[in-house]
Amino acid sequence: MNYSPEQIKKDFPIFKQRINNNPLVYLDSAASTQKPSVVITAEKRFYEEYYANVHRGIYYLSERASEAFESAREAVRQFIGAKSTREVIFTKNATESINLVAYAWGRQHIQAGDEILLTEMEHHANLVPWQLLAQAAGAQLKFIPLDTSYRLSLDTLDQLITPKTKLLALTHMSNVLGTINPVADIIVKARSLNDKIIILVDGAQSVPHFPVDVRQLGADFYAFSSHKMLGPTGVGVLYGQEKILSAMPPFLAGGDMISEVTYQEAKWNELPWKFEAGTPNAAGVIGFGAAINYLNNIGMPTVAQYESMLTDAALVALSTIKGLRILGPGKNQDRGGVISFTVDGVHPHDLASILDEQGIAVRAGHHCAMPLHQKLGVEATSRVSFYVYNTLEDVNALQRGIIKAQEIFGL
Ligand code: PMP
Repeated sequence: MNYSPEQIKKDFPIFKQRINNNPLVYLDSAASTQKPSVVITAEKRFYEEYYANVHRGIYYLSERASEAFESAREAVRQFIGAKSTREVIFTKNATESINLVAYAWGRQHIQAGDEILLTEMEHHANLVPWQLLAQAAGAQLKFIPLDTSYRLSLDTLDQLITPKTKLLALTHMSNVLGTINPVADIIVKARSLNDKIIILVDGAQSVPHFPVDVRQLGADFYAFSSHKMLGPTGVGVLYGQEKILSAMPPFLAGGDMISEVTYQEAKWNELPWKFEAGTPNAAGVIGFGAAINYLNNIGMPTVAQYESMLTDAALVALSTIKGLRILGPGKNQDRGGVISFTVDGVHPHDLASILDEQGIAVRAGHHCAMPLHQKLGVEATSRVSFYVYNTLEDVNALQRGIIKAQEIFGL
């Protein structure tokens, strides 16, 4: 593979600094990624050269801003293989995308006695909105269980999916375990058991890391965030199949999402704007367009292949450390570059602090998946996650850092 992470790293200004007198080893991309100069510059140029509100004024600046905004939507459409930009809605993050479905689709379709099927490995963003909906409607939540290899027990689908199952919402890749779920197969199976089921995929950890084609997967909804794929914060995407989005009532109401308003009532704008009330995060969306362009230049198959090589190396390096337990598939198959682990005798928060002293940024805690941690019988884990700018040296630094923490604790 002709890939130079050292060259890539130079595109990211943040890596010019040292942390606690060490080079920055950033291992928390599953939480949020760093930004290349092209993304920062795209936002800066918008503010300096053609700033105006989008979709409003009929003048040069606003037209240029609207054009850049809508080109970013087209870039997203191509990136995920959606049929039309009418199916690409900008939100503020993956969380809002999922809430949009829970409110606008959910309140219309979920009734008392209905069932919503989730999995035991969901992020709170793909759990709590459904809890609220189920409580409001009198519906029931069910969960596809985990098996001992940290994968979904898919043979339970035959029992779990019933004529009452209105929705299946599941993550494409776990932000804790790293497990990549066979979403395409699950969708085929789910539809064979109930042809009316609606399927939402949480793609927050998948779209950034490997090629995703929403049409090939066959999901009805697919949600993800810009900030986890080199883009700015404050921008998310909800992909939805046009016929479903067309039949849905709006989520938030106000300017931009209407076509006609009287004092008593309103008619909705066309898709996708029907779901984009108020002034959007135009700078963020334009920056996101630049991030997609940057990823396209690397190529998503290359991103996936490179990360897989790092994951391989990390799994090997971590497995040599005494007392370290990986919570997730130990083999580098159908798993991504997110590795959560515990180290006997060292609390994840202490480990994160000791690593920080060496310039190494890792996450410690429950990673917004408390029920999953309860299920695994741990309160907290340490988590490392990789992206395009990480190197094999980062993996070595992590290994050395953990061993040093063990030494500090006299282990
Ligand atoms: N789902 C998963 C699997 C995630 O990892 C995250 C972010 N940690 C989210 C949803 C929520 O993303 P955001 O905070 O950008 O809304």
